Amino acid sequence: MNFHEYQAKELFAEYGLPVPPGKVASSADAAVTVAQSLGKGPWMVKAQIHAGGRGKAGGVKFCKTIDDVRAAAAGMLGTRMETYQSAGRALPVDLVLVTDATDIVSELYMSVLVDRGSKTISFIASAAGGVDIEQVARDTPEKIHTLEVDFVEGVQPYHARRLAFAMGLEAKQAGQLTKIMLGLYRLFNDKDLALVELNPLAVVAGGNLMALDGKINSDDNAEFRHPGLAAMRDESQEDPAEAAAVRNNLNYVTMDGNIGCMVNGAGLAMATMDVIKLAGAEPANFLDVGGGATKERVTEAFKLILSSDKVEAILVNIFGGIVRCDLIAEGIIAAVKEVGLTIPVIARLEGTNVEKGRELLANSGLKITPAVDLNDAAQKAVAAVKSA
Ligand code: GDP
Ligand code: MG
Repeated sequence: MNFHEYQAKELFAEYGLPVPPGKVASSADAAVTVAQSLGKGPWMVKAQIHAGGRGKAGGVKFCKTIDDVRAAAAGMLGTRMETYQSAGRALPVDLVLVTDATDIVSELYMSVLVDRGSKTISFIASAAGGVDIEQVARDTPEKIHTLEVDFVEGVQPYHARRLAFAMGLEAKQAGQLTKIMLGLYRLFNDKDLALVELNPLAVVAGGNLMALDGKINSDDNAEFRHPGLAAMRDESQEDPAEAAAVRNNLNYVTMDGNIGCMVNGAGLAMATMDVIKLAGAEPANFLDVGGGATKERVTEAFKLILSSDKVEAILVNIFGGIVRCDLIAEGIIAAVKEVGLTIPVIARLEGTNVEKGRELLANSGLKITPAVDLNDAAQKAVAAVKSA
């Protein structure tokens, strides 16, 4: 799951990373109160959404006066903000973070992530940080430095110093970077994170390092170990269908196509998406209803798939190994009746009691097209959306 900048900064502070003082506010008046409590300014007012790229979208404002703070907060709160990182969605701005504005000398980049390529936790750093980091990575990759952490040795101060000097930092800053990296590594492991990004990690007037922006992504599979993190979840920032899936314990990911997929088993779900593409169309979602696909889960799954108005046909691909096909068929029939489906459903069932399952579907009186195998199902689904 993702976190807001203010939540990331709270965690940073807990692990000894330098962050500017600040607090969130949900109204312009509250933003003014926060600003006044911080001092005489200048201040930054920053929209809290689960996406970077806010600076370029007008979500990061430098404010010299209290009136500027009020105007900036009033202009952001209650709006929806789309950035080049928000995946085509406009995210609600319910909170702004008000901080002291620091005088920036230069902007560095630092991130920590699980690097599947090298099978390590890696630090990525650059002296050329800031809002154009993607361009730096593309055009001048030599400015990006990587440290692959040996999991036995961990991060050692000499690793951090080496990275600091590669970035052209001074000795005093290298010492600060070491403290930051050791803190980050502890935070990353303690909380089972997947990504932490400081961009910018700024060199501020006087030469000290300070994290001015923070992005954190945690590993959902470890959520049960971190109730404190789970409590920070902000569902309003999430894709509504994906959030509903989480509530129902379904593994669902929204995709771009128009064929909805209901499948049991992640591997079979991936294969189904591949076969749909092979047949010439695009899947609308990834969905694994799980091994124990009960009537209730199948119904929830149908509702989820139908929550996207892009879906023009649904392909059901169920292998009855642990569950019986006749039970699945009953679930599909009940679900189709309950949600009042109007688009074509193509069902491929295989496994235990398959004959009985197919018979139930055939006699249901509903518009459910049976398929003999996966290829047949995909071709029928593609034909259904092409003719729609
Ligand atoms: P993002 O665009 O969502 O990544 O938001 P950031 O928090 O990174 O802010 C974007 C840019 O605003 C930064 O790269 C800085 O250039 C600038 N900025 C952020 N915080 C401060 C600050 O405290 N002082 C000044 N002068 N600029 C800041
Ligand atoms: Mg940033």
